[in-house]
Amino acid sequence: MKKESYTRPPLDSLACVEPSCTLYGQSGQDNLSIRKVYGQDQIRYLRCGMCGREFSERKNTALWNSKINEARAVAVAAQLAEGSSFAATARLCGVDRSTVERLNRCVGQHAHVYHNQRVQGLNVQALQADERHGFAGTKGHAAWEAEVMDPVSKFILSHVQGRRTEGLIRTLLSDAAQRLTDRHDLVLFTDGEASYATLFPELFGCAYQPVRRGSVGRRPQVRYRIPRTLAHVQLIKHRSGYQLTHVEIRYTHGSRRRVQQALAHLSYRTPNTSAIERRNGTARRMSAFQVRKSLAFAHRPDTKVALGWWGLTVYNWARSHRSLRQALPEPLGKKSSSLVRLRWPWAWRTVFFRSKIFF
Ligand SMILES: [Zn+2]
Repeated sequence: MKKESYTRPPLDSLACVEPSCTLYGQSGQDNLSIRKVYGQDQIRYLRCGMCGREFSERKNTALWNSKINEARAVAVAAQLAEGSSFAATARLCGVDRSTVERLNRCVGQHAHVYHNQRVQGLNVQALQADERHGFAGTKGHAAWEAEVMDPVSKFILSHVQGRRTEGLIRTLLSDAAQRLTDRHDLVLFTDGEASYATLFPELFGCAYQPVRRGSVGRRPQVRYRIPRTLAHVQLIKHRSGYQLTHVEIRYTHGSRRRVQQALAHLSYRTPNTSAIERRNGTARRMSAFQVRKSLAFAHRPDTKVALGWWGLTVYNWARSHRSLRQALPEPLGKKSSSLVRLRWPWAWRTVFFRSKIFF
């Protein structure tokens, strides 16, 4: 395998990992010095001048405590995000299958924490939610992946896995809602799943306490009001056999005027969930366990969850999206290279090697 030498991240992008230190998690404070350099990858062992704690620069990263060569670990993670199976990845990268499984868990957990840290306080105009079918363990054990996406930036806000129940939809929508700056100002597009309609007022609407009539008895339950700035549309697909006959548009909550406003912003003519449906197709290509009509199930549900998070993070932070390209007013450089996309290994290496505690 070709040995690649990566440059180490600049020292001022790293921070102290000691939670009791006053400079914990604060990069660029000029408190770190290099104690020594070790291993085949020339990893730096750092010392914090503030608290005196010494630690490896890999502490709290996806490669913490990993003995594997860095270039090889990167190659394994890249193969996993491209949808290669564990066995294929092991063969292509020249590592044992158990190494692939362990690295999958590491990058998956890292990606999950990274997502939770970075994806906060978002400002969106519209959201699309959908679920895709999959299995873990056996064909009798359904393991759905449900996601919420911003159709403008194609960014995935929330990702949950499990059985397709009301609980799964509740976790999905409440997770998406708590990542927004204003949950009362958006239009949500979903499929016809009944839980979306029943949960939407509670999770996105404004709660109020109805006035009690008289002075005896229990106080009435909290109710939810849909503000003018909020709406929910459901797209219900009617089929005969496998054939799609027509799509019913149901304006479940909020006004049509608000929906029209969102459609104008999105440059859509009719309400649809095209962005998340396209993401479903991409996600199936990025996970070996999500391939349709395949028997390549994850043996353990947590393996599938980890791969789901890793694929999502690569999709969000490292993949370019064709529909988001912007033409430059003046062409730059060679004409033939003006449309060449950013080489993605460099983009997602940032995700891979950044500490999950601080960023
Ligand atoms: Zn410190």
